[in-house]
Amino acid sequence: MKLKKFLVFLTISGMLFFVINVMKQQPIFKAPKTISEEVEIALSYYPDLNEIPIEFKFKEHIKKSTMQAQPKFSSFFKSRKKRSYVVLISKHIKISDKEFNTKDIPKEVMIGWLGHELGHIVDYQSRDNLNLLGFGLHYLFSVDYIKHAERTADSVAVDRGMGDYIIATKRFILDHAEISETYKNRMRKFYLSPEEIMQMIDKVD
Ligand SMILES: [Zn+2]
Repeated sequence: MKLKKFLVFLTISGMLFFVINVMKQQPIFKAPKTISEEVEIALSYYPDLNEIPIEFKFKEHIKKSTMQAQPKFSSFFKSRKKRSYVVLISKHIKISDKEFNTKDIPKEVMIGWLGHELGHIVDYQSRDNLNLLGFGLHYLFSVDYIKHAERTADSVAVDRGMGDYIIATKRFILDHAEISETYKNRMRKFYLSPEEIMQMIDKVD
């Protein structure tokens, strides 16, 4: 009888141990169902962000961009390790006059887009709160700073092995004839070109 109880105890504690470990490995993220698969794939390239709460959220309209990663406001009063982030995603991927539904965007393009945003988060995690605040201000006012920040996000993603996804995203924008030249020029001005990404991938390999 005692042995039986002991075995039951062993089984239950074994199961608990298993469940706790599985939970530990799950990244703490929240994402709409329609893109949760893409989010999971993108996050799999960033095991260091596993313990950082990140919420992916659709928004009706985002000024001048499609996605935007930012620390949650409450994070400014917490230590870096306890920060949480939100990645805002425009409901309809609207690039100037042409509107795409998120569900119509090719999967690899979406993954690349998300990978770029996670690159921003890695960059933010390397900054203390004051530095992050300075970053936000610079980003608002300096073209060179935007360029630098966007290139950093891309190169982080490429370093993590997401180069092909990043290229897919850029090609999607640059190769769509319907997308306005203004938007494409913005892309060319602030972001790395597909060719530059290729060179980076070569270096990583
Ligand atoms: Zn960006």
